[in-house]
Amino acid sequence: MGMSSEITTTNHCWKIPVGMPGSHREMCAGCCRPIEDRFLMRVVDLSWHEQCLQCCVCQMPLTGSCFVRDRKLYCRIDYDK
Ligand SMILES: [Zn+2]
Ligand SMILES: [Zn+2]
Repeated sequence: MGMSSEITTTNHCWKIPVGMPGSHREMCAGCCRPIEDRFLMRVVDLSWHEQCLQCCVCQMPLTGSCFVRDRKLYCRIDYDK
């Protein structure tokens, strides 16, 4: 995994419930702490706290849609730059 440098262009974030039977504890890719909320944000193959899902440039919260490039999250504006 992680071999490709291809750009992922669209939003790939899902809000999913935490603690489904048989699931292990998810770690947040943003703050590297366990996710103990009721929901987590799944983006590509990474999990995030809802409040950690923010643009890596301007720190705007990314609710609804997010843009991923090189495993970093961007808002629409910074992604288009
Ligand atoms: Zn977090
Ligand atoms: Zn931004």
